[in-house]
Amino acid sequence: MSQEHRSKAGFETRAIHAGYEPDAMTGAVIPPIYATSTYKQDGVGGLRGGYEYSRSGNPTRTALEGNIAALEEGERGFAFASGLAAEDTVVRGLLDPGDHVVLPNDAYGGTHRLFDKVEQRWGLANTPAALSDLDAVRAAIRPETRMVWVETPTNPLLGIADIEALASVAHEAGALLVVDNTFATPYLQRPLTLGADVVIHSTTKYAGGHSDVVGGAVVVRDLDLADKVGYHQNAMGAVAGPFDAWLTLRGLKTLAVRMDRHCDNAERIVAFLDADDRVEHVYYPGLAGHPGHEVAAKQMARFGGMVSFRVRGGEEHALEVCDRAEVFTLAESLGGIESLIEHPGRMTHASVAGTELEVPADLVRLSVGIETVEDLITDLDRALG
Ligand code: PLP
Repeated sequence: MSQEHRSKAGFETRAIHAGYEPDAMTGAVIPPIYATSTYKQDGVGGLRGGYEYSRSGNPTRTALEGNIAALEEGERGFAFASGLAAEDTVVRGLLDPGDHVVLPNDAYGGTHRLFDKVEQRWGLANTPAALSDLDAVRAAIRPETRMVWVETPTNPLLGIADIEALASVAHEAGALLVVDNTFATPYLQRPLTLGADVVIHSTTKYAGGHSDVVGGAVVVRDLDLADKVGYHQNAMGAVAGPFDAWLTLRGLKTLAVRMDRHCDNAERIVAFLDADDRVEHVYYPGLAGHPGHEVAAKQMARFGGMVSFRVRGGEEHALEVCDRAEVFTLAESLGGIESLIEHPGRMTHASVAGTELEVPADLVRLSVGIETVEDLITDLDRALG
C-alpha cells in the first residue's frame, strides 16, 4: 500500500498494513522475525537497509514502530522492552536534572515509583495533582515545570482528564504534555490529535492484547522530539527485541475488533454491577454519573474494557470476590483477551500504600476480556456471594 493511500486509510486498514511492505525477496505477507544482532556491510559503512546493529535498529521492530505511529496519527514510533522503559527513556531523554514534572495523583503505581524513587534521585522533582481539576494542575506548575504527565482513564479508579485543556495549560507553562494511552488505546483515543506532544504505552496491555509479551512504545509528531527520543532509545538501550516486537505487531492488527468486544462486554458488566446491592460503587467513564463522563464522551470513541468497583463488606469481601471468581483469573496486568480480576490495594497498587495515591481497600478491578459475556456475569454474580 502506498504511503499516500496509507495516510488516508481507516484505522483497521492501517492496523493491518502500516509499517511493513511485503518483503521484496520472498513476498512474506507478515514481517519476518529478524533474529539478528548485526548486519553485513558492503564495504565499511555500506549499510544495505540502513541497519548496522539491532539496538540501533531491527526490521521487525521498525515494522512495529511504523504501525503504532500510524495508529496514533504520529510521525515516529519507538518500541521498548517495557512500558516503564519507554517512560524512563522519554523522561530522561527529554528533561534535565533540576526540572519538575506534574504527575496524576492517581497514576499507575509503577509510574509513580519511577518518578519518586528513581528519577527523583537523578534530580527530577515531581508534584502529584488531580488532573481532572485544571486549577489544581495550574497550582502544581512551577517555573521549572517542563512536563505534565497524564493518564486517562486512570488506573485503577478510571478518572478522566481533559487532554485538550491540559495541552493548553502545559504549553502556556512551556511544558510538554505526555499522555499514557495504555488504557484507551489509539482505537478509542488519539492524544496527539488533541494537542499532546508525546504518547506512551505499556504495549503489554491492549496493544499486545494476548498477555504473552511485555513491551512499551512512544509516539511523537514533532521531528525534533523524535530525534531526541530516537537518540536516547539507542543510547539507553531499553529496546524491544525482535520476537517481542513481532508479537506486539500481531496484536495490534486485531486491536479494533478486540476493543469493540472489550467495550461491549464491559458495558454489560457495568449494567449488572451498577444494579446490584452487593456493590457499593462502580467506576466506569461510560456511566452518566461518572464525573468525567462528558469529557470522556468528547475525547474517546467508547469507554474501554476496564471496570473497577467497591463492594459492600469492606476489604475482606473484596478479597473473597477475587478468590471466588473462576472465569475471571486472579492476576495482575490487564488488556488481554482473557478476563482478569484483582485487588489493587494488595496487588498492582501495593507500592503506593501510605501515600496520597493509596486506593480504597474494598476496591476490585476488572480487566474485562472478550469471552461470552453471560459467562462473565454469571461468574461475578457467584463471586459476589
Ligand atoms: N502505564 C500503565 C497505565 C500501566 O498500567 C502500566 C503497567 O501496568 C505501565 C504503564 C507500565 O508498563 P509495563 O508494565 O509494560 O512496564
